[in-house]
Amino acid sequence: MSIEKLMRANIASLDPYRCARDEFEGVAEVYLDANESWRRYIDFPGDINRYPDPRSALLRKAIEEVLGLDYDMTIVGNGSDEIIDLLFRIFCDPGKDSALLMGPTYGAYKVFASINDIKVNIAPLTKDFEVDVPLVKKMIDETSPKLVFLCTPNNPTGNAIPYEIIKEIATYNSGITVVDEAYWDFSTEKSASALVKENERVVLMRTLSKAWGLASARIGIAMCSKPIHEAMYNVKYPYNIGLPSSTEALKALANAAAVREGVEYTKLERERLRGLLEKSSKVVKVYPSDSNFLLVKVLDANSIYLALQKKGIVVRNRSRELNCENCLRITVGSKEENDKLMKALEEL
Ligand code: PMP
Repeated sequence: MSIEKLMRANIASLDPYRCARDEFEGVAEVYLDANESWRRYIDFPGDINRYPDPRSALLRKAIEEVLGLDYDMTIVGNGSDEIIDLLFRIFCDPGKDSALLMGPTYGAYKVFASINDIKVNIAPLTKDFEVDVPLVKKMIDETSPKLVFLCTPNNPTGNAIPYEIIKEIATYNSGITVVDEAYWDFSTEKSASALVKENERVVLMRTLSKAWGLASARIGIAMCSKPIHEAMYNVKYPYNIGLPSSTEALKALANAAAVREGVEYTKLERERLRGLLEKSSKVVKVYPSDSNFLLVKVLDANSIYLALQKKGIVVRNRSRELNCENCLRITVGSKEENDKLMKALEEL
């Protein structure tokens, strides 16, 4: 089936919004096309009084150089959350289509599905939080999902999905396979970026919110084939990435060595924190992690969660997620932050 046939019919035939700058390449002498202010009232290193580039071209060039994701295949979103929402809006007919998730996984997939009135089916992960490939294939056969989400490393379990499994599912699935690599920088698993070039039904997602330290700038990235790229460009808000955000993102991408050093520090801290947690009398199990957080089974998640909160320490209570009874998800902080957590835990 062609990619266009998988899309909502109204999206495949959309007459998209275009601005004058879509029809103009280069730098003009005078811009009188967008009813902007001719002057600025604040100091900013750039044209803050102008609308930003709808294509985020400079940012995408830096993303290609630093992250190795091809310029022609990338779209930048207001966080990868925007990309997820776009995928539902492009591919899923409300009240009719479905998506397939592995469970437990990132909660926003389900929320965006609900907002778009899309049914969600869940293929539970095994007890070790591995993807149950035969079950996923069976559910693909039975439910014909428009979107299959594979989160690797997975939130909240922390483990990565082996590349070969992603490839196997993406090849089997005749709908769209979305590979969410939000935490990829912390893992050693091969990226699915190569797969996007082999299989036009695969969409890769990355974000600058985690390893790159830019959660507040809201920069998510999709890498996808031409027809999906075109639809995403047409459906996203025309000026979805503000100049302040792209300016700061360019600075971070120019500072990749510091980011890589930070990632190494976080990985070392992750393993130190694991060691400390494993010695705690309140901890039952610390799950393996390829990300910047640990899923930790404790004696009583609800009471420990609230007691830590009272001491000013906020972790994520995941105990109501599928197969996560009594589990807390703990982000790896700085050494000082992790030590404060451990001190508070021992004082309970
Ligand atoms: N994917 C996963 C797996 C996440 O955990 C998150 C945020 N917690 C996101 C996507 C969204 O990230 P953002 O919108 O900040 O890019």
